[in-house]
Amino acid sequence: MEKSTFDAEFDVVVVGGGSAGCVLSARLTENPNVSLCVIEAGGRDRNPWIHIPMGFGKLVPDPKMNWGYETEPEPGLGGRTVIWPRGKVLGGSGSINGLVFLRGAPSDYDEWQRLGAGATMTCCPISSGWSTASTAPTNGAAPGAR
Ligand SMILES: Cc1cc2nc3c(=O)[nH]c(=O)nc-3n(C[C@H](O)[C@H](O)[C@H](O)COP(=O)(O)OP(=O)(O)OC[C@H]3O[C@@H](n4cnc5c(N)ncnc54)[C@H](O)[C@@H]3O)c2cc1C
Repeated sequence: MEKSTFDAEFDVVVVGGGSAGCVLSARLTENPNVSLCVIEAGGRDRNPWIHIPMGFGKLVPDPKMNWGYETEPEPGLGGRTVIWPRGKVLGGSGSINGLVFLRGAPSDYDEWQRLGAGATMTCCPISSGWSTASTAPTNGAAPGAR
């Protein structure tokens, strides 16, 4: 089989189009001066169960959607292994997850901000904002969130 070549340069290459990779990429594309390449090992998110709430029961057993990891034998579990699903599809584990939503602890967000999360990257300015105050609009945006 002929190998395809990819001859291009980008300001940023995001490896993994999962939850974090997609959010980061979307934020980066807000700046038209930044060229971006997203590399995702899985396929497009066309499986209808991705878009149906509680569809993860159909997705987790599917080797096309799930990397299908398993832990090493766990001494604390009498030597048993534990299945460790991870999404292998655009959207990553966020595409095969259970849609359970918890609002984070304000102190965690403030600590991330203090440690530098959201600081402006030299190559491409991403708007900052991990503090409790900055995340409040989206943190409460999930329908029915309390
Ligand atoms: C079955 C399941 C149920 C869950 N339920 C919930 C829930 O209800 N609520 C909740 O808040 N969280 C839930 N989670 C957890 C949540 O989905 C994850 O914490 C989150 O999606 C992790 O995001 P991430 O960006 O770190 O990784 P992922 O979203 O897993 O993204 C990683 C991406 O990188 C890709 N990748 C890996 N290696 C390579 C490579 N070499 N080259 C290119 N691409 C690569 C993967 O295919 C994947 O798309 C669940 C997770 C699973 C698996």
